[in-house]
Amino acid sequence: NLTARLSRVLDSLRGQGRLTEDQIDTAARELRMALLEADVALPVVKDFIEHVRQRALGAEITQSLTPGQEFLRIVQQALTETLGSRPEPLNLRQQPPAIILMAGLQGSGKTTTTAKLARLLKEQEKKKVMVVSCDVYRPAAIEQLRIVAGQVGVEVFPSAVGQDPVTIAQNALAEARRQYVDVLIVDTAGRTTVDEAMMKEIAALHAALDPVETLFVVDSMTGQDAAKTARAFADVLPLTGVVLTKIDGDARGGAALSVRQVTGKPIKFIGTGEKTDRLEVFHPDRIAARILGQGDVLGLIEEAVRKVDHEKAARFAEKLKKTKSFDLEDFREQMLQMQKMGSMASLLEKLPGGAQIQAQLQHIDADKQVRRTIAIINSMTIQERRHPDLIKASRKRRIAAGSGVEVQEVNRLLRQFETTREMMKKVASGGMAKLMRSMAG
Ligand code: GDP
Ligand code: MG
Repeated sequence: NLTARLSRVLDSLRGQGRLTEDQIDTAARELRMALLEADVALPVVKDFIEHVRQRALGAEITQSLTPGQEFLRIVQQALTETLGSRPEPLNLRQQPPAIILMAGLQGSGKTTTTAKLARLLKEQEKKKVMVVSCDVYRPAAIEQLRIVAGQVGVEVFPSAVGQDPVTIAQNALAEARRQYVDVLIVDTAGRTTVDEAMMKEIAALHAALDPVETLFVVDSMTGQDAAKTARAFADVLPLTGVVLTKIDGDARGGAALSVRQVTGKPIKFIGTGEKTDRLEVFHPDRIAARILGQGDVLGLIEEAVRKVDHEKAARFAEKLKKTKSFDLEDFREQMLQMQKMGSMASLLEKLPGGAQIQAQLQHIDADKQVRRTIAIINSMTIQERRHPDLIKASRKRRIAAGSGVEVQEVNRLLRQFETTREMMKKVASGGMAKLMRSMAG
């Protein structure tokens, strides 16, 4: 568990300002172990560590974090970014029927995922879906698709052992057109290992069908091998996305990082069980947390709660009451508190009953927006943070460039800050302490 490891190693190290090279080296060693334990492929581990090291070298330690926590924060951010930052939906914007081609090794979960996807598209997007099996080597595979498609109530274009896969697919497409089908999902044959015949066949199917989505289905439990398989498929097929299956059997999640890094393609869905409703949109931050071994959810929540510093909140309220007006530094402090609450909220999800608690925390905006806001404020000078009114056009451009956002984002932040400042003014000074305490949980 990386969190535990790093806490142990680094939290004893005190230091202000920046992470030292020694601290980074120590932390990087632990990170390497944790990633290998999570079954991330070795070359991917190396690249990732180098990336994190570079980032950590420049990073300032956020007040109220220990070096270990700061490093973890950097790792988590880098990991989430590498994994894709946001969920990526299927692209079905095309003259129907939109074709989805399923590719992957035998046993990876193609047929199961075909039925899951069909169900999702039918139920959630009200699409008319047809499926077809081009697995002409195993009668059981064709029968399996017929059964699961029957369970989810979508039409199956018939196929039989010994027919030509490309001909089957073309006939299915013609039939789908006749019936005004919205989405045709093409299930294919896989071998137990990568071989040339399989690659030729799937490439021929791709050429004949020109699918709008070509999904690489991969068993997350194959760990290190997932990277090799992904490379082989990505070499012959223009993949558009990945489905990571059997996540329910894999506590580590390392395959997600390997496959994403190797293919460069978004992971669109994860399979979380055998049943046809066990398909979820992929959320990079959740897998990031899993890879970092944050399975120790209770402990983390405790820590998150501890991190939200009650005393500090009270002092802050006091300061506000007494002296100056609310400035961007105070605003950032609020955002940091919210971020801590936010990561706690995402952890809560994994707990039994956690979804309910999380629903109550809905108003806490845990997402990117908060991180971005903090990044923008970090790019300001202290002068600017204390006197936001100084921030005119040229300063805005500099700040935007410094934090890698558009100027509009800086404007948005300043407006948001202004609104908050107004709100702060309205809250009676006595009410402020209460407000801050309630924010601190
Ligand atoms: P295919 O050979 O690629 O078509 O793979 P299948 O769809 O036949 O799946 C192989 C096995 O994996 C079957 O027993 C499925 O029930 C199982 N399976 C597929 N997806 C998942 C998943 O997300 N979780 C679990 N636990 N099992 C899965
Ligand atoms: Mg199959």
